[in-house]
Amino acid sequence: MLLVRAIVRGQCPNCGGPISDDRLEKGLPCADCLPKPSPELLELADRGDRLRFLEELCNELSKAGRLKGYRRILEEEEALREFEQFFERALGNRPWSAQRTWARRVLGGKSFTILAPTGVGKSVFGIIMALYLALRGAKCYLVLPTSVLVKQASERAEAYAEKLGAEVRILAYLAKSGKAREELLERIKSGDYDVLITTSQFLARHFELLEGSHFDFIFVDDVDAVMKSSRNIDKILVLLGLPSEAVEEAYELVKLKLKVAAALSSRRGVPPEMREELERSRERLRKRLEGLRIGTLVISTATGRPRGLRVRLFRELLGFEIGSRAELLRNVVDAYSLVEEGSVEERVAEIVKALGRGGLIFLQPGVGEDYVKRLLALLEEKGIKAALVTSRSKEALEAFERGELDVLVGYAIYYGLLVRGVDLPHVIRYAVFAGVPHFRFTAEVSEAGPLRLLQLAQVLRSVVTGDEGSALDRLTAKLRRQLANLEAAAFQRLSEALVEGVKPEGYLGYLYELFEELRERLKDLLSRREVLEALEARTLASIRFVDGKPYLLLPDAPTYLQASGRTSRMYAGGISRGLAVVVTDDEKLLSALMKQVSWYVDEVSWTKYEELDLGEILKEIDEDRRKIRDLWEGRVKTGVRDLVKTALVVVESPTKARTIASFFGRPSRRRMGNINVYEVSVGDYILLIAASKGHLLDLVTDEGFYGVVTQDGRFIPVYSTIKRCRKCGEQFTELGEGGVCPYCGSENIVDQLDTINALREAAREVDLVLLATDPDTEGEKIAWDLYLLLSPYTGEIRRIEFHEITRRAFEEALRNPRAIDMRRVEAQLVRRIEDRWIGFSLSQKLWTEFGRRWLSAGRVQTPVLGWVIERFRKAKDSIKPVFRLRLENGLTLSFECEELEKPAREIAKELRDGVVVIEQLGVELSKIPPPPPFTTDAMLREAAASL
Ligand SMILES: [Zn+2]
Ligand SMILES: [Zn+2]
Repeated sequence: MLLVRAIVRGQCPNCGGPISDDRLEKGLPCADCLPKPSPELLELADRGDRLRFLEELCNELSKAGRLKGYRRILEEEEALREFEQFFERALGNRPWSAQRTWARRVLGGKSFTILAPTGVGKSVFGIIMALYLALRGAKCYLVLPTSVLVKQASERAEAYAEKLGAEVRILAYLAKSGKAREELLERIKSGDYDVLITTSQFLARHFELLEGSHFDFIFVDDVDAVMKSSRNIDKILVLLGLPSEAVEEAYELVKLKLKVAAALSSRRGVPPEMREELERSRERLRKRLEGLRIGTLVISTATGRPRGLRVRLFRELLGFEIGSRAELLRNVVDAYSLVEEGSVEERVAEIVKALGRGGLIFLQPGVGEDYVKRLLALLEEKGIKAALVTSRSKEALEAFERGELDVLVGYAIYYGLLVRGVDLPHVIRYAVFAGVPHFRFTAEVSEAGPLRLLQLAQVLRSVVTGDEGSALDRLTAKLRRQLANLEAAAFQRLSEALVEGVKPEGYLGYLYELFEELRERLKDLLSRREVLEALEARTLASIRFVDGKPYLLLPDAPTYLQASGRTSRMYAGGISRGLAVVVTDDEKLLSALMKQVSWYVDEVSWTKYEELDLGEILKEIDEDRRKIRDLWEGRVKTGVRDLVKTALVVVESPTKARTIASFFGRPSRRRMGNINVYEVSVGDYILLIAASKGHLLDLVTDEGFYGVVTQDGRFIPVYSTIKRCRKCGEQFTELGEGGVCPYCGSENIVDQLDTINALREAAREVDLVLLATDPDTEGEKIAWDLYLLLSPYTGEIRRIEFHEITRRAFEEALRNPRAIDMRRVEAQLVRRIEDRWIGFSLSQKLWTEFGRRWLSAGRVQTPVLGWVIERFRKAKDSIKPVFRLRLENGLTLSFECEELEKPAREIAKELRDGVVVIEQLGVELSKIPPPPPFTTDAMLREAAASL
């Protein structure tokens, strides 16, 4: 065995006893469990075939009659291997990293959201997992957004099942009429299937047919469709085996938590009754969930952000939260074309002609039907097949996907179909904007919905001051808060009511009135000349007069980014290249847009369309589309390239974990043990991000010399997990008798062991662990601890380092992983022992001398204190008697004496009575140069000489 650097208590993966670092590092159990690992085992440990290694290890352990903790680790690994082989038999290739991670979770009975880029094989995973589980007696349900997809999925499932020779009853609900339909519904009702596949619409409309069924596995593709009605969430929960009382209970808890959150942010704080109520509610729910067999839910999300409170039920009942992908990760060439002669429409048609098929054309809302007709005619003239898409006519979309149309025309509205509802990264190549995306407000602001009103308020806020400004702040803050928790359907009703000017009943009526108040304020502001002038001078707004009426024009960067983002999507392998061209004759509005866009994205540079190297750009664009198609059609096999990898990133602080996660959109979040694990997708990685909450291990105090034992003449520190008492705040490594705080006897203790266990669980899901603790020696030591503690449970572990918390620094760090720097770790090990030996022993001395436990002395403090004492003594010793004599002419003389021959008083008297005679009088000039500044060398020399 190698050099032992440390012993860690309680961390043998097999028996839970003490174990040395060299064994942990190799993934081996302690010397008690396996005194002499065989040479074959050691060789397997180095080769990196985890399953073979675990099999051999368990074999050797069970021969010795000592197989304990490793049994579960092996079982998990075997289950995964079995699934992998099943997958490979069906598809001809092994699952990718991301698919393996999802499989580990499902096999471990965990529910979660899939947040992955296009082309990673989400639906394939869902289908194969359903078949795999069905063969083991499980009932599975796939919920898909459209009937086209239901058909596709059921055909695929049948084909896989046939290939595998698996007898699985697959039942898909596809629209049929008459008797066939009756039969189908009857089969669904009687549960005559193993795998059911339907649209989300079916779930919403025919729930009564499913009621009473219990599913072990539900896979929901396209969360947005399901979340349209919050009742669907309840339905899914019930189908997973949760009684509706439990769902209601959980909903009460969600509402209660909201109240607590509101109370927390208020000045009064949370009243104790409320805390107790929260505790009781949690307890009730826990009791209700006890012993229930709840199925596993996997939800695949698109970009849409689920609204409303019921979404939070997933967290309370299944332990995960839904996130959304970052929309601003883009790889788009931003270009513009200024029209000086001719019309914008003509220029648009010319550009589309040059760029070819696969384009989106965005029109400004408010352009009339004539405009659309003219544009379509111009395109047709040039032989371009185009059609208008609106939420009412979507046929064009499918024709476009099939390649029957060259371009789609739609409106540049943030929630517009073409802006948000199209996900065709393999087809869409570019976007052209006919006019700068913008908002236009009349001074009456009558046509604006809730979000517009808030946006306008935000702009106007920058030009109003004093009480007027703060009143506006209060009102908008209130409205934003309320809107954040509004269900999608309610939000829709409110928007309609505001546009139509009809006040709804109840709570919405209350919101309606608040918005009316906001509208009045904005109207008043816009009617004032000085406000309009300030707006033009100080903001990105421009004022335009049409028929003598003032209009306020504001650039709309969010819509521009969202719409142009359709041309550039994250896929397994990176972010595809896209191109966007803004065609306009309004230079002022264009430069306002450019400025506003730069507020949202770091790196954006605009190029004149006419100066682009089109050939090169289109080549890149088409290359990426080809890759995406290959991925989709399964033409890329594993091993061809390292596609999206899953990795766990461990940082020290929970806040840092959240900050890093939020660089990449709204992260999905899971609760694992006592920690939050965030999940984001960054193109080539799916990252799980979690925090160690600082140090995990510390020297023990009850063994060796202050936690250091000697072995073969070497000093070996003994470590244990850090515990902290919630009551008295003391930190320690050994519990008192009966597992209580050794200082105050409280049982309320947090142990970093829980964090370690949670991190192990997260590490087991991924292929790679990246230790991103702070870039200093303490951080290196924590990284080493993590490396040891996680090694037996996962594959590869690397260290990354970043010095500033920015997306760029983090991405740079991801690209440069390294090994743990053992020299830094060893330095820290020694430093800690010094601390303990010098500091701890001294502190104890202090405590016994002074009886005060808060006194402490450390490795650094102690020598400094010694130095201070020495200085103090020197100063004391250097005290000498000084006599000062003021002469009659005002001159003062001082005499310093080494020793006094007689009492000072007598000398003073003699001096007072004597006469001063001047013996010599003269003037002297002397030059005193200041000492040169210290160089580092000189300072060290000086320090060495005087300390
Ligand atoms: Zn052991
Ligand atoms: Zn305590």
